[in-house]
This record gives sequence, C-alpha cells and structure tokens, in this order.
Amino acid sequence: MVSISKELLKEIFEGARRLYPKELILLLRGEKDMNTVKVSELVVPPLATRGRGFAAVPFYMLPIDFSIVGTVHSHPSGNLTPSTTDLNHVFGLILMIVGFPFMDETNVAAYNRKGEKLKIFVNG
Ligand SMILES: [Zn+2]
Repeated sequence: MVSISKELLKEIFEGARRLYPKELILLLRGEKDMNTVKVSELVVPPLATRGRGFAAVPFYMLPIDFSIVGTVHSHPSGNLTPSTTDLNHVFGLILMIVGFPFMDETNVAAYNRKGEKLKIFVNG
C-alpha cells in the first residue's frame, strides 16, 4: 500500500497541470513501514529536463539516497497504466502515475517494481 497526504497529491496534480501536455517527473521521498510506503516529500530530480518524458531522466546518475521511495510522473493521455518503458525504469520501490485531468483520486495509480497495482491511501 502507498500512503500520501491530500496536500502532496494536490501539489503533484498542480505540477502536472502546469507542464501539460508535457510530462511531469518528481522523486518521492518517504519511508517504508511494514507493507506501506509513506510518501512525505516531493523532490525535483536534479538532472531532469523539464517535460522531456520519464524515460529521459538518467536515474542511474542520481546519488544513492535511501530516503527516495520511488517516482511519480504524469501521463497527459490520462491512461494510468505504466508503459513497458516505465516498468523498465522503476527507481526505488514504487512507480506512481497521475493522469489527465489531474483532478482527484481516480487520476492516480501506483505500482511496485513488478508492475502490480498498489492501493493508495490518501489522508488528510
Ligand atoms: Zn509513463
């Protein structure tokens, strides 16, 4: 399961809307507690070129930082299913995808490294 506050989710949606129709990519900072990945902070990937697409971010060049639990990126198409490219570039524990129109909890999905869909608990 993935837990995230309503406020953080709103920030992601706002960022995704700002970059639309390009892709937003952010790192998720947080911690894993039992079976729950708790997202507590958003981090702009240092080498990301804004809007160039998820696969264009050279995650392998990032310093190893164990507080990064995964990534989130936007799908301007609105489709919440990860692409093969997405699943080949999972960084951390979870891959979160937000889809157009970036409005509410039906516009977000999260997956583990195997591509299995995880439950998202939005709190606050
Ligand atoms: Zn994608």
